Amino acid sequence: MIKSGIYVHLPFCRHKCHYCDFYSLAGAEDLIPHFLSALKQDINLSVASVNGWEFDSIYLGGGTPSLISADRLEPLLKQLHSRYSFADEVETTIEVNPGTVDEKQLRNYRAIGINRISIGAQSFLDDNLRFLTRIHDAGESINAVKAARAAGFDDLSCDLIYGLPGQTRAAWKKELQQAVDLAPDHLSCYNLTVEAGTELHDLVQAGKVSQPEDDTNADFFLTTVEYLDRHDYRQYEISNYARPGCESRHNLHYWRIEPYLGFGPSAHSFDGRRRWWNRNRLENYLETIAADTPPVKGLEILTDVELTNERIGFGLRMREGFNLNAIAENHRSLVEKNLAQAQIRFGDKINVEDKRVMLSAEGRLFAEQVAVELMIEG
Ligand code: SF4
Repeated sequence: MIKSGIYVHLPFCRHKCHYCDFYSLAGAEDLIPHFLSALKQDINLSVASVNGWEFDSIYLGGGTPSLISADRLEPLLKQLHSRYSFADEVETTIEVNPGTVDEKQLRNYRAIGINRISIGAQSFLDDNLRFLTRIHDAGESINAVKAARAAGFDDLSCDLIYGLPGQTRAAWKKELQQAVDLAPDHLSCYNLTVEAGTELHDLVQAGKVSQPEDDTNADFFLTTVEYLDRHDYRQYEISNYARPGCESRHNLHYWRIEPYLGFGPSAHSFDGRRRWWNRNRLENYLETIAADTPPVKGLEILTDVELTNERIGFGLRMREGFNLNAIAENHRSLVEKNLAQAQIRFGDKINVEDKRVMLSAEGRLFAEQVAVELMIEG
């Protein structure tokens, strides 16, 4: 059986954070019932061939999935389980914004089979949360973690963002300490990126917000790896840290180039060779589905070379790296030749053990540069 996951994009938010480039809409919550009917149809219309796939993860992402109540999400989960073949144990995650939940609601999520929660805390300092234009304060983030534990979530992740203007290493370490004190099972620590098309991008362009130097971000990154490692959170991907056995099964599908299906506006799917993605504006998505047509906007068929390069690019993001034996046989010697060159340039930042190519923690700072050196042309 081929391990695979399902992603569902729920695109509603109470407010659009100024740094966010995910597809989401603020102030459109009254469309949720209509959207959920369309989503049901999106799943029914899917023609993806999933023979031999075994789904072991569902990820409810967004947007702010926690704007949708458990009784509205339950039919969606039931539909997925009746339509697809699932493993005995399924990791079912919901992303939660701390400003939108209480313990009762979290208990209801737990009761419909959601067994993993990802809490978008982002920071434990109110000034940072104001800068990020989040709708919640630090106290609400802490309460959300406690409420999720009380509601029975024993697989709990927190998101944090570093690299904010003026942030110091000491201040970031305090945030890490606060996170560790809350004892999540998993932490995602992202460097704030300024994406084109966001309000934050406009502010940076206008000189109203300054970005930290690359060296400062590198320092935050290495501080994070070292601090969390000392507290038993192992970095298993550039931005992700977990207690042993608590890695995100769903996200590993992406990084290991395993198949996944995506439903909802802007969601992507991949079958091991073809990648396709849905229309990314809600009105277009709804219109297409109303016409009984799958809401697919685009499709690409990866060449063998592109697949090899994806294996390298995603593999180097992970502690486990990638296995040279998983590279197509006719590409292997080319990759090995590039690897030999890269080892001269990057030295002990690259490790090779039993045909597995991995980067050291410091090396992961250079993952993109190393990947470019290893990738093949074609
Ligand atoms: S809550 Fe999340 S998805 Fe919504 S706008 Fe903010 S960062 Fe984006």
